[in-house]
Order: sequence, then structure tokens, then C-alpha cells
Amino acid sequence: VDEQEAAAESIGNLQIKDTPAENDNKSAQSLLNKLIRSNLVNTTNQVEVLQKDPSSPLYSVRSFEELHLKPQLLRGVYGMGFNRPSKIQETALPMMLAEPAQNLIAQSQSGTGKTAAFVLAMLSHVDPNLNHPQCLCVSPTYELALQTGKVIEQMGKHYPEVKLVYAIRGNKLPRGMKLEEQIVIGTPGTMLDWCSKFRFIDPKKIKVFVLDEADVMIATQGHQDQSIRIQRMLPKNCQMLLFSATFEESVWSFAQRIVPEPNIIKLKREEETLDTIKQYYVLCNSKEEKFQALCNIYGGITIAQAMIFCHTRKTAGWLAGELSREGHQVALLSGEMQVEQRAAVIERFRDGKEKVLVTTNVCARGIDVEQVSVVINFDLPVDREGNPDNETYLHRIGRTGRFGKRGLAINMVDSKMSMNILNRIQDHFNKKIEKLDTDDLDEIE
Ligand code: ADP
Repeated sequence: VDEQEAAAESIGNLQIKDTPAENDNKSAQSLLNKLIRSNLVNTTNQVEVLQKDPSSPLYSVRSFEELHLKPQLLRGVYGMGFNRPSKIQETALPMMLAEPAQNLIAQSQSGTGKTAAFVLAMLSHVDPNLNHPQCLCVSPTYELALQTGKVIEQMGKHYPEVKLVYAIRGNKLPRGMKLEEQIVIGTPGTMLDWCSKFRFIDPKKIKVFVLDEADVMIATQGHQDQSIRIQRMLPKNCQMLLFSATFEESVWSFAQRIVPEPNIIKLKREEETLDTIKQYYVLCNSKEEKFQALCNIYGGITIAQAMIFCHTRKTAGWLAGELSREGHQVALLSGEMQVEQRAAVIERFRDGKEKVLVTTNVCARGIDVEQVSVVINFDLPVDREGNPDNETYLHRIGRTGRFGKRGLAINMVDSKMSMNILNRIQDHFNKKIEKLDTDDLDEIE
């Protein structure tokens, strides 16, 4: 059962594509990121820009004033606590706000300011005196659409003439109705129905079309077709904007089908490294011994906050229970929890309300908790075939170059097999993982 459970939990590994669980996981991960993200991610990389017309000058702005926004919108932007454009916004905003409209495909990891950028573009382009939809924004799920809607409401706080409506399943409108809101945000299926079958929206009057989270979108059967069918109803001069966190081949070909003559902006992810991490392993014989070693570590060194990774839900639950009995304040992330619940657990942990977070791999994928100084692999990361999952190892303990504080990683080894995995991880990264004697911890500090 443990094996099966482990397999179920490792869905989300990159090699398994196109299963429903994988799609759910993608959109859940994306939502989780939005729910816990309160700041821009730091990046030292430069944006790469490919202009549709390479001979035209490339503008980039260092301040929001330079964009000559409507005063109501500038107030909205500052009201959100933004002081200056993010890296990607510096080039994306002038392109999106230029006249005549330019199309854009933009890729950068989550948390770099894409949503804020296209929300500002939509709000800048609508005419509040016209009472019909002018901007359409499609998102992969209802929950993600709601999150974007919230940003529109915040940024448009001082611009109440602009109205917003959600094209999502369950939002039933009377037949023959014509929408008066300027911005429509929703999922592709309902948006398509509203444009064609029900004609609540006249697609010919749309000025801006935004396709958000393209990578998550195409993971869902049908979304690609629906998006393309919406796009085909729009006028030639409608501005098309597409955003994605990742850019594998499938996303790229979809992007090119939906955005004609695009400008392209890419921002590379900050590379993670093990350079600032001290890596150790502890030799044990059973899970009880691993727990004892963990207690020794806690007794021997001062740990501000730690994340502990387990392979299965069962182990994670057991370990969290044992740690609580020892008097630790423990947070537990587990696969059966709803995304909102997970976000709440992570936020409490980030606020320091708990000092230990026990989690399975899938739950914590893609989550950055910067202040965590110690990561413990109670189980080593392996893929479904039982091979070392180097990517996950790096992501769990790696830090991004310049911003990374020094960290400590401790791996628990409890069998020949896991020793073999550890050795392969060590070889892969060509970085020594030192043996640690938990009865004598002087060497760590
Ligand atoms: P993405 O869509 O790329 O995931 P978001 O637009 O959601 O990124 O931005 C990530 C976080 O950073 C959000 O909390 C957002 O409010 C904030 N943010 C966006 N742009 C700026 C900015 N220019 N200055 C400060 N914070 C920003």
C-alpha cells in the first residue's frame, strides 16, 4: 500500500504527462503559488527580447510614471505597494501599452509580475464610456480566474467605472442578454459559449485578448481548441497577449498559433545551486532510528526552521505525530488537503508560527520558503522507478545564487538501496555529501 501511495504521490513528476491528476496538479500548484505569494521573486537574470520588428526602438521603463498611465490607475498601482516595475514589466509594459497595439508572448516563472502587467494593460485599454466587453481574459480554472479578478479589482480600485464579469460555469445569464461590463474573465469553455452560442459578448468589439497560464491551459483537454476558436472570432487588430511560466515545445507551438506577429519576452529562471549548502548524511537502520537521529540533531544544534520531506503521506503523518509528542510545534502538509488548506499551512509556517514543516514531496513542489535554513530528507527523493530524482533534490535544498543564505541539508539513509541513491546523487552533482555522526554534532557548527 505504501508503494502505491508513493506512486500516487509522485504523480507530478515530469515524466508523467497528460494524466488528469497531472493537470489538476499543475493548476493546483499554480493556485497555491498565487495564494502564498505576497512579493515579487528576486531575479538577477536579464530579459531576452525578440521584437516583431527588430528595427523599431526598444523601450523599457524604470518607473510607472514613464508609462503615462491614467491617474486613477497610477494610484491603483501605488496603492498595491508597487514602487517600480518588475524586471519583466520594464519591457512588457511599454510594448503592451504602445499604439498601435502590439502582440506579446511572455514567459517567466510565477511571481515575476506577469499578472499585474496584463491587468494594467487591460485597464489602460478599456473605454469606460462604452458599455460592452472590450477585454477578454481566459484562465485555466475558475479559481485562477478569481485570483486574476481580484488583481483587477485591486488595481482598478480608483477606477470604478470599469466593470468586471466572470465567465465561469454556474454563472447563468438570461437568454438574449448583452453584457455591459468592459472586462470579461473566465475559463475557455464558458467564454466560448458566451461569445458564440449565447452571444452575450460581441467578439468583434474586443480590443484585448489575454491568455493566461498557457502551460497549465494546454494540459487540459479541449482548452487549446476552445481558446483558438475564441481567438478566431476576434477582429484582426485585437491585441493578443499570452503568458506562461514555462515554455516547452507544446506551449510554444500553441502560442504561435494564437498570437500572430508577436513580440517575445523571456526571463530565465534563477539557477539553483548547491554551492552554499552543507550536505550531510546520517546512517540508520529503520525509521525509528531515523527519528532518533532527528531528535539528536534537534538536541545538538539550534534550528530556526526546518522542512522535513517524506516519501509517503503515511510516513509524514507518523513523523509529525512523533515530533509533536516530543513537544515540537509541527505543521503537516499532506496530499489529501485542499489547496486553500495547504496555503494556510504554508503561510503559518512562513510566519514562524510553527518551526517544523513535515511534508511529502508533491505538496511542497515549487514552494519557496526562504528563511528555512535546514532541510531534512527523511526519505531521499526518488522517481517512480526508484531512481534518484536529482531535480527534486536540487529543488528541495538548492538556493538561488546571489540571494541564497547558507543552508544545511541532512539526508537520512536506512538501507543499502538508499545509500546507493545517495551516492548517485552525490556523483550527479559532483559535490561531497559528508557523513554525520548524530552523537557528535560539533562538526556542523
Ligand atoms: P506572476 O503573474 O508572474 O505570477 P504577479 O503579477 O502575480 O506575478 O506578481 C507576483 C507578486 O508580486 C504579487 O503579489 C504582486 O502583487 C507583486 N507585484 C507585481 N508587480 C509588482 C511590482 N512592480 N512591484 C512590487 N510588487 C509587485
